[in-house]
This record gives sequence, structure tokens and C-alpha cells, in this order.
Amino acid sequence: MIMKQTINDKTIKELEEIFKNLGFQKFRAKQVFRQIHVNKINDFSKMTDLSKDMRKKLDQILYFPKIKILKEFKSNLDKTKKYLFELDDGNIIEAVFMEYDNRNTICISSQVGCKMGCNFCASTKNGLERSLLASEIIEEIYLLERENSDINNIVVMGIGEPLDNFSNIEKFIKIITDDNGRNLSHRAITISTVGLVDKIYKLADLGYDINLAVSLHYAFDKKRMEYMPSAKKYKIKDIVKACDYYFEKTKRRISYEYVVIDGVNNLKEDIDKLEKLFKGKNIHINLIPLNPIEEFKYSKTKSNVMDQFQKKLSTRGLNATIRRSMGSDIDASCGQLRNNYAR
Ligand code: SAH
Repeated sequence: MIMKQTINDKTIKELEEIFKNLGFQKFRAKQVFRQIHVNKINDFSKMTDLSKDMRKKLDQILYFPKIKILKEFKSNLDKTKKYLFELDDGNIIEAVFMEYDNRNTICISSQVGCKMGCNFCASTKNGLERSLLASEIIEEIYLLERENSDINNIVVMGIGEPLDNFSNIEKFIKIITDDNGRNLSHRAITISTVGLVDKIYKLADLGYDINLAVSLHYAFDKKRMEYMPSAKKYKIKDIVKACDYYFEKTKRRISYEYVVIDGVNNLKEDIDKLEKLFKGKNIHINLIPLNPIEEFKYSKTKSNVMDQFQKKLSTRGLNATIRRSMGSDIDASCGQLRNNYAR
């Protein structure tokens, strides 16, 4: 039996090689690549510019991963749509489509579940099931575009730790930015990581000017370790050093995400420490109100608490802004839709 390979994560070069073995002419590779990445076709039967025989041959050795929309949630407050997607093997992921300032941004998942174990995060509660294939990540994006409209930005901030799925993330970026196909600019992509130091260096060395967001959330290792198991391995000092290297290499300003938990990480000592860490650096601090989940006892951070913290950081010369909340009437932050569905 032939093990079929995914087709939508192949470069033109790789397609040329496969097509050569099938006896197809070389130009067919580019043609099929365009069908997949410009016309967003994910079905051989719709490639009517190929003969029936060619389509049959392709279908025998290659396949498109399919993603089904299990549920769609539309916000009544803004144009946000949240999705539960079902993969070929029945696993479930989440994605979000957001529209503001005439720009379309999507938030996508990189894994089914997550093994990072942050105790305020719903995505990690049942551990990691598996990583997404590059071809599944690509289909996730094209499905959102087919359902809505073309996107301007991708943030990899859904379920999963993208840098724990490095090779597939690298591959999806390579394909989606190919100027013969979808031609998205690297700058339109943001990767959010819990702070896997070695992988931050590796990402920097790819030489792409993609944006990096780092889930810092705590200014002290001791506090960070209480909430984020990865902090035992990766110290804040080393994360910041890796991020400085990233900035040097890519010239993209690092965004540090900071989920504000009232009474825990918005104290004077935290502000002092953040000032020490970042004063004079060209960075951005993205303040996020805690979204309560069942398994974490703290409540939603009030907007006046967010405002006060933001002002105090600004007074210290730090560039901090509060993340705009999209679709807040839909069961919000990452992993919650999936968990609720499973329940
Ligand atoms: N694993 C990556 C990306 C997925 S999480 C990372 O850690 O960055 C996306 C962001 O949502 C992270 O900053 C994460 O810490 C944050 N987050 C998780 N649970 C949250 C919650 N309950 N409330 C607010 N933000 C949360």
C-alpha cells in the first residue's frame, strides 16, 4: 500500500521532483502550486486545467488534509468569529477571524493541546495530543480565507506552543510567503511563544523578519515558575537575552505579553523589576486581562486595574499597551471552546 503524502505543504521544487517521477512536464508543478496557494483549491477534481488521467495519478499518491467546521461562533459586539475545527483524525482545534481597521487578522492553532502546562491556560489542561502538520496549518489558514476573506495578518497564538512544533512552523512560513503562491509577507506573521530560549535563537537564525511575541507574564523567575512550568528550565534573563538577539537579527521589535493577575503580578515590585529589565530597550509590553478559566481561581482582571498598571508602566518609560479585546462575548481565550465542547 502506498502511504499518501500531503500536497499543500510542498515547495515548487518538491512538486517538480514528484511530477518528474509521474512523467509530468516541469511547468505543471508551478501550475498546481498556483491552484493550491492562489486559488485555494483543495480538491484534485477541481483542478480542471489538468487532464483526468493526471488528476487520478496525483490522487493516488498525494492528498489534501481536510478540516471541517464543527462550530462557528459570531460575536454580537464586533466582527469576530471563532471556530472549532475538526481534523481528519477527529482531533479538534480552535481558530479566530478578527476584523478591525479594515484589516483581517487570524489567530491559529499550532498543536492539538499543549504540554507547556501554564496553569492559567485552558489549552494545556489535557496535555499535548499531537502537533499540527504544516499542511494542516496551511489548510487552517485557507479555510478561514475561503469562509471569510483574504487575511492581512496571522498570529500563531491559538492552541499549542508553536516553537515546540518548529519544523512544521518553519515549513508553513516558507510555503505561505512564497511569491509564486500566497505571497504573504513575513512581517504579517507573529509567533507567540512561552519562551523556549534555544528555539528563539533558531528562529532568529532563519533570518525572516517575522514578529515574535513572548509570554513573559511575570518579572520574577520565582513567581513565573509557580504558574509556568517552562520557567524552571528557561530563566527570564536568558529569554530576554535571546529576544535581544532576535531583535538584532530581524529588526522586529519584540512584544512581551503580560497577563495581568490582580494582586499577583501587578505589584510595585513587579513594576520595579520590569523597569530594570526593559528600560531603554526598544520593546513593547502587551497587557492582557486574565480571562478566567474553571481550573484557575482568579477572576477577570478589571479594566481600571489594567488602566492603572498600564499608566504606572508608562510613567517608568515603558511602552505598554492594553490588548484590545475582540469577540469578548464569545467564550474567549484559547483552549476554552475546545474544552467546553469536549465536556
Ligand atoms: N504557547 C504560546 C501561544 C499560545 S497562548 C504562548 O505561550 O505564547 C497565547 C497567549 O494567551 C499567551 O500569551 C498565553 O499566556 C495567553 N493566555 C493563556 N491563557 C490565558 C488566560 N486564561 N487569560 C489570558 N491570556 C491567556
